Amino acid sequence: MNLSQAPSTLDISVVVPIYNEEETLPLLHEELENHLPGLNKSYEIIFVDDGSRDGSLAVMQGLKKENPRLRVLRFAQNCGQTAAFAAGFEAARGAVIVTLDADLQNHPRDIPNLLEKIGEYDVVCGWRKKRNDPWIKRVSSKIANNVRNRLSDEDIPDTGCSLKAFKRECFAPIKLYKGLHRFFPTLMKMEGFRVTVVEVGHHPRKFGESKYNIRNRVFSSFKDLLAVRWMKKRQLKYEIIEED
Ligand code: UDP
Ligand code: MG
Repeated sequence: MNLSQAPSTLDISVVVPIYNEEETLPLLHEELENHLPGLNKSYEIIFVDDGSRDGSLAVMQGLKKENPRLRVLRFAQNCGQTAAFAAGFEAARGAVIVTLDADLQNHPRDIPNLLEKIGEYDVVCGWRKKRNDPWIKRVSSKIANNVRNRLSDEDIPDTGCSLKAFKRECFAPIKLYKGLHRFFPTLMKMEGFRVTVVEVGHHPRKFGESKYNIRNRVFSSFKDLLAVRWMKKRQLKYEIIEED
């Protein structure tokens, strides 16, 4: 994707896609600012407002006034989580990009654990081993992960966990399409990047509601899975053994 060609000028960019999350944003911002300074690295926080219709934008703008490390990108309308991630990645100036949901189901206190593995690995994926979601979501997510892993010949236990860390260069060879945020690790492995998994905490959603349900997720993500399976099977693999 079209990641800024300029060299990174910061250590870390935290990218958060946001759609109607007004209540949680002050707390998320506070928790990020509680945990990022301790890393002793330069960082920025990028909130991407994906066309929220509640007061999220006003809250973000208020927070930004107090915090020069916070950047706010605003979409004209709701374009989906992958688009919000993509816009954040293109704007990011960090050598490492950390992603998480706005809802604090993932907690910023786990970010240092992910970053510890960056270096040895290019991509570190959070694994919500103990899920704090309604049973219907836990079951559907388990089935989805199994089907996804089987059909795409993959072994990521929890690709739906947004809490991940990436070396910036992982995004350079990848073209993102709607829905592909669920397949970042697979797409990156296909490009030869090293991927690992780290256990992270998971907490109940305190405010607002999930933007996904069985109806709007199962069919579209299954179609996306078939596309990724196709890409993986049809990936060009060749070795030049002689050149004159
Ligand atoms: N989100 C977004 N655009 C959308 C849907 C979701 O930016 O069209 C954001 C949302 O605000 C949250 C993250 O993407 O920060 C994941 O959404 P959610 O937490 O509702 O999904 P779940 O974790 O329940 O699967
Ligand atoms: Mg969430």
